[in-house]
Amino acid sequence: MSISATSLPRVLALANQKGGVGKTTTAINLGTALAAIGERALIVDLDPQGNASTGLGIDRKSRRLSTYDVLIGECRLVDCALETAVPNLSVAPSTLDLLGVELEIASEKDRAHRLRRAVEGLCRDGEERAFDYILVDCPPSFNLLTINALTAADSVLVPLQCEFFALEGLSQLLKTVEQVKAALNPRLTIHGVVLTMFDPRNNLSNQVVDDVRKYMGSKVYDTVIPRNVRVSEAPSHGKPALLYDFKCSGSQAYLKLASEVIARERQLRPAA
Ligand code: ADP
Ligand code: MG
Repeated sequence: MSISATSLPRVLALANQKGGVGKTTTAINLGTALAAIGERALIVDLDPQGNASTGLGIDRKSRRLSTYDVLIGECRLVDCALETAVPNLSVAPSTLDLLGVELEIASEKDRAHRLRRAVEGLCRDGEERAFDYILVDCPPSFNLLTINALTAADSVLVPLQCEFFALEGLSQLLKTVEQVKAALNPRLTIHGVVLTMFDPRNNLSNQVVDDVRKYMGSKVYDTVIPRNVRVSEAPSHGKPALLYDFKCSGSQAYLKLASEVIARERQLRPAA
């Protein structure tokens, strides 16, 4: 039986080969905001560090099944997905085992499509736990894990930190997206660029916002995520910022971002 494209969850890969730009923070808080708006969301943790899992309060002992087991083909995505403290939000956790997965599946023909197959399986198997959005938190490199994320994704959401080197590496990322699109996944598009850790008192932050908007035009979301200490404290409490301090500027910005993401989705897929 063929799977209708609209019955599949929308898959967004949060990718940037730089570390520390806000991928994981955005995965956790955008996922929470989408869930708060009523979308059923699943965060897929594809970083061996497992920060998205930890930040959602999943301790290491609970990660009996993980995205490693999914990628080696020993577990369905729905079976490793754990519920979080946020209603409507689940997470497929990662463990350090992911570090070895590249070698383990390197000689498999379908090595780049493992996550895609798992997502398609979710649609067929997981009717009791269906999802509207899947957010894939990528590691900070272009390895087979990121390639799996880009092959599984409908679109890429690129977090860019408002700092001097923000644009450096962006053209390389865009090139990689084009390569994956040509070779592995013709559906792939850029959903948008989200500017993170914005500090309005810093002239450089303002300059970066202008530069990125000039370079990427309407691909840049209107919402800019401010640098906010509550956002950086939340993960150590195992909570998304939206649960830790709903009113803080960071939480409110992620809620606005979620509305923008949904609005763009409606434009991209009016029938869905
Ligand atoms: P990545 O996943 O790209 O490596 P993270 O999301 O882990 O990046 O963010 C890197 C660091 O910056 C973390 O310590 C995180 O808490 C902090 N951080 C991210 N976004 C914000 C923000 N809006 N305000 C303050 N700190 C932030
Ligand atoms: Mg991360």
